[in-house]
Amino acid sequence: MKTDAFALRHIGPRESDLQHMFKAIGVKDMDQLLYETFPDGIRLKQDLQLDPAMTEYEYLTHIAQLGTKNKVFKSYIGLGYHPAIVPPAIQRNIFENPGWYTAYTPYQAEIAQGRLEALLNFQTMVIELTGMEIANASLLDEGTAAAEAMTLLFDVRTRDQKKNNVNKFFVSEEILPQTLSILQTRSTPLNIELVVGNHETFDFSEDFFGAMLQYPGKYGQVFDYAGFINTAKSKEIKVAVAADILSLAKLTSPGELGADVVVGTTQRFGIPMGYGGPHAGYFATKEEYKRSMPGRIIGVSIDVNGNRALRMALGTREQHIKREKATSNICTAQVLLAVMAGMYAVYHGPKGLQYIADKVHASAVTTAKALSVIGVNQVNAAFFDTILVKADAAKVRAIAEKNEVNFFYPNSESVSISFNETTSISDINTIVAIFAEAAGKSAVHVSELASETHLPEKLIRTSSFLQHEVFNNHHSESQLMRYIKKLERKDLSLNHSMISLGSCTMKLNAAAEMLPLSMPNWNSMHPFAPADQAQGYLTMLKKLEEQLNVVTGFKGTSLQPNSGAQGEYAGLMAIRAYHIARGEGHRNVCLIPSSAHGTNPASAAMAGMKIIVTKTTPEGNIDVEDLRARAIEHKDDLSCLMVTYPSTHGVYESSIIEITKLIHENGGLVYMDGANMNAQVGLTNPATIGADVCHLNLHKTFAIPHGGGGPGVGPICVNEKLVDFLPTNPVVATGGKDAISAISAAPYGSALVCLISYGYICMLGAEGLRSSTEHAILNANYMKARFEGHYPILYSGEMGRAAHEMILDCREFKQNGIEVGDIAKRLMDYGFHAPTVSFPVAGTLMVEPTESEDLAELDRFCDALISIRKEIEVASADDTNNPLKNAPHTLAMLTAERWDFPYSREKAAYPLEYIADNKFWPSVRRVDDAYGDRNLVCSCAPIEAYIEN
Ligand SMILES: *Cc1c(COP(=O)(O)O)cnc(C)c1O
Repeated sequence: MKTDAFALRHIGPRESDLQHMFKAIGVKDMDQLLYETFPDGIRLKQDLQLDPAMTEYEYLTHIAQLGTKNKVFKSYIGLGYHPAIVPPAIQRNIFENPGWYTAYTPYQAEIAQGRLEALLNFQTMVIELTGMEIANASLLDEGTAAAEAMTLLFDVRTRDQKKNNVNKFFVSEEILPQTLSILQTRSTPLNIELVVGNHETFDFSEDFFGAMLQYPGKYGQVFDYAGFINTAKSKEIKVAVAADILSLAKLTSPGELGADVVVGTTQRFGIPMGYGGPHAGYFATKEEYKRSMPGRIIGVSIDVNGNRALRMALGTREQHIKREKATSNICTAQVLLAVMAGMYAVYHGPKGLQYIADKVHASAVTTAKALSVIGVNQVNAAFFDTILVKADAAKVRAIAEKNEVNFFYPNSESVSISFNETTSISDINTIVAIFAEAAGKSAVHVSELASETHLPEKLIRTSSFLQHEVFNNHHSESQLMRYIKKLERKDLSLNHSMISLGSCTMKLNAAAEMLPLSMPNWNSMHPFAPADQAQGYLTMLKKLEEQLNVVTGFKGTSLQPNSGAQGEYAGLMAIRAYHIARGEGHRNVCLIPSSAHGTNPASAAMAGMKIIVTKTTPEGNIDVEDLRARAIEHKDDLSCLMVTYPSTHGVYESSIIEITKLIHENGGLVYMDGANMNAQVGLTNPATIGADVCHLNLHKTFAIPHGGGGPGVGPICVNEKLVDFLPTNPVVATGGKDAISAISAAPYGSALVCLISYGYICMLGAEGLRSSTEHAILNANYMKARFEGHYPILYSGEMGRAAHEMILDCREFKQNGIEVGDIAKRLMDYGFHAPTVSFPVAGTLMVEPTESEDLAELDRFCDALISIRKEIEVASADDTNNPLKNAPHTLAMLTAERWDFPYSREKAAYPLEYIADNKFWPSVRRVDDAYGDRNLVCSCAPIEAYIEN
């Protein structure tokens, strides 16, 4: 046996454990287990056709080699992406630290106070720089954040009766091209009419519900929008502003100018460009729109002792819980990147940010001045970091590329140059020399930065920001390192224990998969760099697309969607384009089983579809007869079915082939939600079950870490019917020959983290992938066997087996006064994160072990839940003073003078023996959700709160 095979590192159970596990389940081997689990007729006949598996060492050598094909030139392209300096302390302590990147979305607030605080810092930073009242904890990128702003304003327009029937939205021609493309995509199915034009000549006599401006404009001009916003206000037109976050350290904030929504990206706050992503988009607005806000808001609340405690506010404010009434489908966002950007602000503080902004501005001013000396003029009347130069673009480009420099060329006579925090005097001299050569002049030499400014006088920022102590007390590396560690210690991540979140597939994120993200020739590419410089990326992305085609059995893949929900939307938009291309644009009915994930109906609503919810049987399967009736009833306008396979209940429905056939017979296509792909890879695939398109969650099945709630990648894979419609990008063409417009800002979405999934597939190979799926099924069925007799298990397959996850029914414990949430909190005392709570069935836990957990860890988790079951047995609805209701127990409680509980301290904190060896302490007691919703505070306390002490 090859002991250096990556599969041995990735898959938990050892060969020597298998007999014990089979015996517990009651099968003789893996074949029998699969036979009893998996419906006949959908099993693949042969292994996936993939390259032989690489060892970790071979992969790292390969990827370093391939990386040399990326030529990282100095980038002045701008357009929303800038070279940034990742502070080394943040790179080492967050970006490369599994304590941060393997965390789950902070639903269990008591063991997530660290990242909740980091996200509160991010929100505070966004609120104060933009001058708005509330902000969320990140969106996917600037372009999609702008689209969310448009749909929020569209949604709230009905509050003002006068705008009920108004569907026009103005977009300034200064908007970034990729943002415009996304606005086009998103507006069309909702019948929003986009009017693109010059804001200075905008005709206010027409009726609009909203407008979108770019600040500064796409090639750097800083416009004074005060007049526009004021007039818009008087006409009840709401204004959204897409703003460069760094410029706001110098410029009057959009909030002070009267904006209703401000969006953008925080990439240049210490996040590598990564050929387009991932980066944290931001979204800030007014208090009055808090209930329509997309994404998640972190809020301040209290625990049962009245101590300050953070949590996700407004009942975990995802829009998609509104299902078909949603206006946003954001689920996974960009938490890790928001944590990093917020920490960048913590590290630099207000003075540091101003210094960086001054330096960037001075670089632009200095260059403009030097160029004018040699007769090359720039035309922006006022600018922050970007100058627009009149010159022969082709000539400049040839010389620039010879000097390993990239500018942006809006047309044949213009060159746009965006400066950033890495720009040095020597870089400026290189730029000047390039233009001098192009103009046939001799260059002037620059030796220091100019001190004058080219900001518009009326827009110089006078208001302060980031006065809170967190942004002023962590400017040495020791302080920052300890602050990051202090937060990290409050959070339970995969480096402490298994996180068995059903549907979320929290598997190993191997170090070998992660290491290449820190390699400069992978993480420093601008997404709009010329293709000949990005050959390493293009080769890797193409290869990954092919690997995913093989895995799904499909013909084409788009890596552009940067979350699963974005993939759903992209897939549905491709289906929409398919019907339109066939002259059947009226097909708009989307059938969705009632058990579907909330993002499904939300995405369908965004794609302009009419949603018909179909029934599920008591066994948890799709009610085929109901589905048949609906499909036939809507056969003239059926667009598609959205189906999760195996089902959200963790069952392989044997009727799946019949179901997909039924949809096709009635003129529709089949969208498969691929969140449960971990139960399919190498055993079956979406093409075999009859789907036409699926999204994959690379951050579930394909090893991208969850990051505490993002990043994610949600590629769509499609068959020949849909391949022509895969999405493109306005700057770098991608996608099919009749491509739909952009889904995400960057051509290949979050390209940097695609490396992780590429590495995962390269190192596992066909056999390792299949074996992973088999072990995921084995682990789930082993746990199921252990839970039997302790917890009722809902929805088994026809032969009594689970797929890769199972649902434990906790509803009957209500008679003992115990809610499923109490079990979730009590698990913290046992050192575990709760499984998925109340999805897809209220009052249940959905457990998904993944293949990466070994037998000992599975046993500890089962022991914990079985021990809790015994505690439930003796609990009573009349007396709630018990370890479940009081959970979680903190160290402060345990070490307090007084102990008023009718059970021992040991029982509270060390209920099983294994815990003593590796105790995890929740940092707060149970958090009060209702209090936090009633008193929404979503930024750090104002400075006055600290002056008192
Ligand atoms: C996770 C999940 C999604 C959404 O994916 P995101 O990346 O969070 O947007 C959709 N459907 C199901 C069943 C899921 O589990």
